[in-house]
Amino acid sequence: MNNEKVFSIAIDGPCGAGKSSVSDDVAAKLNVMHLDTGAMYRAVGLYMLRNGVDVKDLSAVEARMDEVKIDVRYEMGEQKTYLGSEDVSKLIRTQEAGDAASAVSKGAYVRKKMVELQQLLSKGVSMLVDGRDAGTCILPDATLKIYLTADVRERARRRYDERIGKGETCNYDDVLNECIERDKNDMTRAVSPLVQAEDAVVVDSTHMTQSEVVDKIVALLSERLEAMA
Ligand code: C5P
Repeated sequence: MNNEKVFSIAIDGPCGAGKSSVSDDVAAKLNVMHLDTGAMYRAVGLYMLRNGVDVKDLSAVEARMDEVKIDVRYEMGEQKTYLGSEDVSKLIRTQEAGDAASAVSKGAYVRKKMVELQQLLSKGVSMLVDGRDAGTCILPDATLKIYLTADVRERARRRYDERIGKGETCNYDDVLNECIERDKNDMTRAVSPLVQAEDAVVVDSTHMTQSEVVDKIVALLSERLEAMA
């Protein structure tokens, strides 16, 4: 498949459901860009942490929001996230930046600015957007909307294995509690909480391998495009 026919895929779901890696593989198979919107919230979180702003104080965060210059560029097909002219793609992958992202993402003005940028980046091109509000806010008319989920214990186990694989020391119960806390934050915030879009297809990956999930999404898109032809 290529970019001849413009289509968009929105993938939402809770943390640890495998959105990022599945999205990377689906986008590569379809030869389209993958916009990881979580990276953008992480970059906002990193900016606030660096500038000594209390990320839980939303008025303080929003007062600084106009200074934050986030940019997304694609280098060899891979998303690079910039804060001003600095590539922060690796720096935003810490636990601290993730927690800061979760806190700042509650701000209505933060979300407004991020959604505007995300819509600009995805306008007129075939793209896969993953996040928490891709199907509900960023791409309300997406060709295909997926809500990717898995049992929270399985999500925590995957996160735990990933961290151990990276040589980090962690405890499974702590990772499970972190996932439960992140779900609560994402699902109960007042602005754009994580919800399943009405027209989303639910994919529960608890008992599926990553490649099974990828193949399923690619097949769903083909069906959707055929039905539209
Ligand atoms: O997906 P990732 O873990 O990188 O996202 C970090 C945090 O950013 C999430 O826990 C969530 O609170 C927030 N986020 C969001 N909306 C998005 C993407 C991420 O609120 N579209």
